[in-house]
Amino acid sequence: MLFKQIIGQAFIKEKLLSVAQTGRVSHTQLFVGPEGSGNLALAIAFAQYVNCTNPGKDDSCGVCGSCVKFDKLAHPDLHFTVPTISPYKQSREVVEDFREAFLANPYLNDYDWLQTIDSNANKQGNITTDECRDIISRLSLTSYEAKFKTQIIWQPEYLKTEGNILLKLLEEPPQGTLIILVANATEKVLATILSRAQTVKIPKLSDEDISQAMEHIHHCQPQKASDIARLSDGNYNHALALLQVEHDGYFERYSAWMRYCFSGKVDELQKWTDDLSGTGREYVKNFIGYTIQMIRAAFIYKYGDQKLLRVNEQELQFLVKFSAFVSARNLSEITQSLDEAVVATERNANLKILFLNLSLYIGRQLKGAQRAA
Ligand SMILES: [Zn+2]
Repeated sequence: MLFKQIIGQAFIKEKLLSVAQTGRVSHTQLFVGPEGSGNLALAIAFAQYVNCTNPGKDDSCGVCGSCVKFDKLAHPDLHFTVPTISPYKQSREVVEDFREAFLANPYLNDYDWLQTIDSNANKQGNITTDECRDIISRLSLTSYEAKFKTQIIWQPEYLKTEGNILLKLLEEPPQGTLIILVANATEKVLATILSRAQTVKIPKLSDEDISQAMEHIHHCQPQKASDIARLSDGNYNHALALLQVEHDGYFERYSAWMRYCFSGKVDELQKWTDDLSGTGREYVKNFIGYTIQMIRAAFIYKYGDQKLLRVNEQELQFLVKFSAFVSARNLSEITQSLDEAVVATERNANLKILFLNLSLYIGRQLKGAQRAA
């Protein structure tokens, strides 16, 4: 992975390059950044750079023996620990699948990943005690050829108390070892682990970075590129998903839905939910994301700084009227129910039942705000 293959993050790249060039590479690091920020890709690019035998000022050479192996994630001194699901106990059992999944989409999230090893992934992912022991034993061996034998621990959020087995290693790894933990949120990482790693904070991507990538890499028209950037909210993984689904019909579907929720007519709602259920789960998840944004936009229109609104003209006209039905209280109730609907959709819930109940609930919430007003 070269730095130049990673979208945006110019500031972080510069910082990482400068650390590597001064030779003050901390042996245990935590790269923390939200989903779709490129945190895992940056960790791999950094490891490649410090191991490159002919590094340039801005990037690895890409052609030395080390780079060629890093490019396929197949360097013998590059090790991955990733969440797994039973019956798998150790990352090495699934590392081939992981390489393939990452190379196909370096911005993948844990849900995408667990789906690739078990499409019926209602099971909880885990980093097991066996895996922790495996990390310790493989890092105790000397490296084959690399300057830094590198261990990447992706999603240390999955390490529960078994993570404490690693503390001594994280504090004092064998010489020439680089351990990079790659997390989305520090709140979910064991405090004992956090205190032993040097943190590199990675921000979410800017709309501009995503929009440019959509235009230049995926050849989107400028309007579509900027719509995707706005909807993906700094998450490139989400932007890629949006690119896969046709999202032009979101507004019509959303505005009709809100009207039916409000009228509460079950036959209209049933027809609407039947139609939505026929679109596929990936579309449904993205549509829910769009709905959350629109409801928040109505709230901002009513109470906030209208300069912060990220809507087009058609959406604006709708929310001028719709904002009368949104309050601080029902905003949080409705967005929470929508967040839960995303999880239920991922877990293969029956969409017709889910959305019928959700619609009736949203209808009650909207009418409640109207009564209070
Ligand atoms: Zn190189």
